[in-house]
Amino acid sequence: MYGTDRLYSANSLQQVRDYVKRESNLKVLGTRHCFNNIADSTHNLLSLKAMDEVVDLDTRAATVTVSAGITYGQLSPYLHSKGFALHNLASLPHISVAGACSTATHGSGEKNGNLATAVSALEFVTAVGDFVKLSRQQDGDTFQGAVIGLGAIGVITKLALDIQPTFMMRQYVYENLPLNEVKEHFDAIASSAYSVSLFTDWQKQRMNEVWIKSRVEGGHSFDAGPAFFGAKLATRNLHPIAELSAENCTEQMGVPGPWFERLPHFRMGFTPSAGKDAADNLWLSPCYKQPCVTIHFTWKPDWPAVSKLLPVIEKELAPFNARPHWGKLFNTSPAALRSIYEKLPDFIQLSTKYDTHGKFRNEFLNKNIFGS
Ligand SMILES: Cc1cc2nc3c(=O)[nH]c(=O)nc-3n(C[C@H](O)[C@H](O)[C@H](O)COP(=O)(O)OP(=O)(O)OC[C@H]3O[C@@H](n4cnc5c(N)ncnc54)[C@H](O)[C@@H]3O)c2cc1C
Repeated sequence: MYGTDRLYSANSLQQVRDYVKRESNLKVLGTRHCFNNIADSTHNLLSLKAMDEVVDLDTRAATVTVSAGITYGQLSPYLHSKGFALHNLASLPHISVAGACSTATHGSGEKNGNLATAVSALEFVTAVGDFVKLSRQQDGDTFQGAVIGLGAIGVITKLALDIQPTFMMRQYVYENLPLNEVKEHFDAIASSAYSVSLFTDWQKQRMNEVWIKSRVEGGHSFDAGPAFFGAKLATRNLHPIAELSAENCTEQMGVPGPWFERLPHFRMGFTPSAGKDAADNLWLSPCYKQPCVTIHFTWKPDWPAVSKLLPVIEKELAPFNARPHWGKLFNTSPAALRSIYEKLPDFIQLSTKYDTHGKFRNEFLNKNIFGS
């Protein structure tokens, strides 16, 4: 449910500029996959869904430039057909590139940064309708601050992403990893393959499943034995919640397939998992200058119960300076956010430069970022 049905769909840069100049408050929508109200507005919503084309594939620079509305599900098969790949994907392919990068959406993999770390340039329209282009190469800190922009910097119309030669992967699942093995050998487990995720229902002293995604050629390859730190190799495809059908999950059992059909867990859907991500320099990234373990939870749609449990979990994680995901549910106070996201004051300054009067702000941003 969004706060307004005043939705405008833009088809071109000019339409975006005209609309932004005309309206005094608006929020850009991606594919609406955030769990909180970061993308909501009570005034106006702008969709760039129709602007979903691949603009340029620069094989020499190893970048692809796309319009902001494109989803990873649209982009990935195209890249593979041209012999290229992205370094990582989230658990599902349906999300827009601009929306995902704006909230630091991540996949897994000890050496893999979140999806925003692939952005090498971005183009956006500021609150007064000006057109700005920033690149990693030329704009240093300003660029690092703008990439994870929470929709507060401007309306992103294009992004350039780093690409690499396409690759094949195999996925293996192990069941019942004892918790004490996780405690003793977490680094070895998390670094055992290109991408590793652990799933638990928190009911017993074990991880129900370990999903291991390994590149077939080159790099770190995984030797799938019958046991893995006490867990047993699964003999059929599994859903992360074992009692659910694996029909919507990506292929397992070591069957080789292209990167975009193995890196996401799901063809469709969502699930709790934990993984590891590499450090980066993006100001509002949870992995800013430090590698992170990412832990997420699947909630039943019962907000009164969830809202009681969130502070309990956050209290347990506080000693680790846990940083909430910008697109998910959290209870962290604005003051605590400022202390754990050390570049927040710089981000406020940067976004105010492009949006002096708060045209792109909404309830979420006013509460959590701008303190009003
Ligand atoms: C089933 C499911 C699975 C998920 N799996 C993962 C996962 O594996 N890893 C993970 O990290 N997260 C995951 N998420 C969270 C989610 O993918 C991200 O938070 C992501 O931001 C959603 O992208 P979106 O395109 O739907 O953006 P939206 O929710 O539509 O918007 C997100 C933000 O981006 C801004 N924005 C969008 N487009 C633009 C633009 N063109 N210019 C400027 N700002 C823009 C919006 O204003 C808003 O602030 C999952 C969510 C769901 C529902």
